[in-house]
Amino acid sequence: MTYEILDPRFNRLIIGHVKLEKLYTGSRWAEGPVYVPSAKSLLWSDIPRDSVMRYDETDGSVSVFEHPCGHHNGHTLDDFGRVIACEHSGRRVSRLEYDGTWTTLADRFEGRRLNSPNDVVQRRDGSIWFTDPTYGIDSHYEGHAAQSEIGASNVYRIEPVTREVTAVITDMVRPNGLAFSPDETLLYVADTGVSHVPTHPRQIVTYSVEPDQRSVKPLGVFATLESGVYDGFRVDREGNVWTSAGEGVSVYAPDGTLIGRIPVGELVSNVAFGGPKRNRLYITAQTSLYSIYVNAHPYGW
Ligand code: MG
Repeated sequence: MTYEILDPRFNRLIIGHVKLEKLYTGSRWAEGPVYVPSAKSLLWSDIPRDSVMRYDETDGSVSVFEHPCGHHNGHTLDDFGRVIACEHSGRRVSRLEYDGTWTTLADRFEGRRLNSPNDVVQRRDGSIWFTDPTYGIDSHYEGHAAQSEIGASNVYRIEPVTREVTAVITDMVRPNGLAFSPDETLLYVADTGVSHVPTHPRQIVTYSVEPDQRSVKPLGVFATLESGVYDGFRVDREGNVWTSAGEGVSVYAPDGTLIGRIPVGELVSNVAFGGPKRNRLYITAQTSLYSIYVNAHPYGW
């Protein structure tokens, strides 16, 4: 079964007869997909292999894009088409320049090293927001084991130009995926704190962006899971949230109703809209890269 339709609103977002395609398998842990239109490619991370992989849409080939790379996890694209990366062992947020070099955008908060940046998103004002849980320093598997210098897992904002780093959320257990609503008035953040606190709820929390555009206040819980976790997710231009949720992708309407699900059969880590029309949903899941054509698009397309 390709889809589970739980609400009629989901019908409009899918193409009934298409199938989920498995494009590649052989990753140890696939995550961090980002579509790079100028390269007609989807990049993703194989974190334990310390590699960034590349799927070429023109011929379906897969190659290693970067290795070693500082154990990349999440990626996004900035307004100038440059790749922004979260690096576990690099313990920084970095940017791939047009000349192929990587520039550090943030590696410290108040003088202390970041834990291991996990996921990242850019706002239209140029600020970059990222989560910094400890998964890349908890063991040697996804980075280099180390004590947290900060002693907390926060969500941060990087100011454009000055690159000043400020903490915007400091009371989550393990903030992970994050994304803004299409009008950027809401910030959604997944908390995978159940990995360290077994009773911690598996949820995505909604925050409202304050008038200063650089701070947030909690509004409430957007969605909750019984088992598995929400890791990374994306929001389409109508405000629907397409999120990893255990062994599949779950889609929530802006009001928080679960409207549909795409079963994948492996633990899904993240999704990204790609393809020339941005209607191809790429899915990273444990060992593999998948895609499925949908009737939804990201903001700006
Ligand atoms: Mg993540």
